[in-house]
Amino acid sequence: MTTAYITHPDYVHHDIPNHPERPARMKAIWKLLDEEGLSARMKAYTPSPATDEHLLMVHTPDYLAEIAQAQKEGYGIRFTVDTILLPETAITARLSAGGGICAVDALMQGEANNALVITRPPGHHAVANSAMGFCYFNNIAIATRYAQQVYGIERVMIVDYDVHHGNGTQDIFYDDNTVMFVSTHQSPLYPGTGGLNETGEGKGKGYTVNIPIPAGHGDTSYAQIYERIIWKVAEKFMPQLIMISAGFDAHWDDPLASMRLSLAGYHHLDSQLIRMAQQFCMGKIIFMLEGGYNTDTLARGIGNIAHALLGDDTYHDPFGALDARDDINNLIEKVCQVHDL
Ligand SMILES: [Zn+2]
Repeated sequence: MTTAYITHPDYVHHDIPNHPERPARMKAIWKLLDEEGLSARMKAYTPSPATDEHLLMVHTPDYLAEIAQAQKEGYGIRFTVDTILLPETAITARLSAGGGICAVDALMQGEANNALVITRPPGHHAVANSAMGFCYFNNIAIATRYAQQVYGIERVMIVDYDVHHGNGTQDIFYDDNTVMFVSTHQSPLYPGTGGLNETGEGKGKGYTVNIPIPAGHGDTSYAQIYERIIWKVAEKFMPQLIMISAGFDAHWDDPLASMRLSLAGYHHLDSQLIRMAQQFCMGKIIFMLEGGYNTDTLARGIGNIAHALLGDDTYHDPFGALDARDDINNLIEKVCQVHDL
């Protein structure tokens, strides 16, 4: 079993002062993976920046031109109050998108069985024509399109367990029946999208599955959702590749949200996703980092993913669990009704 480990030392270069999406996130993960001997057991890759051709698989020419112009003239762009393009942001964001492309190459060329992409800035809020929510280029959408266009993969399932709805990813594939987008997210919460009746349009009708969860739910509710919804979606869709938007901000101790997953709960979800990949697509699964703003729980959670991808039974949860809501049956029944599961 070979696990590709994709990261780049320059991922620390985009640094907005006092911003939760900060270089310390990378450093904490690198340190833990090194100290626990996990990086040594994986096959390391250093990605190249995504080219215009790669970015244009998802983003509009106008958006790339807007960024290029800002770079040339040396000014920043404030897309939103907390999504700012600094001079070093564009190249870092290209490198970040390159991480996903590198993972697809490693899997499709048979060099690795699965992959862990430790990257920033994250991607799942970025839409075709704009940055948004700390995200500049939609890394997972670009990697998905790249797998389809370069390697002829027909069906990709994206599971997004970041606590925020992956509005950008949803938007990019909304009318597409070759990409199944499944998201669990806290609701209400930023960015406000991801209602359970948002199910896709045109050819893509039924290929977006939103599971908007009220604050306070934890391990039991998420485990139920995976068992009763996500497994069934995978069985129906039969993915050839599974991609994960892995955000650790649904952990109970994350400063940006109010869900109550523990690291043991996250480990259960990761194990389920890896089992799905084994069952449906010869183990082909790529975990790509999105959010997670408590660096201790983030690093430990990523360490647990590395263990799981390497086939270990080991996981660590030194932080424990809090009591959580488990009245999730109504929501599950509604989602199953909407999607005929
Ligand atoms: Zn998030």
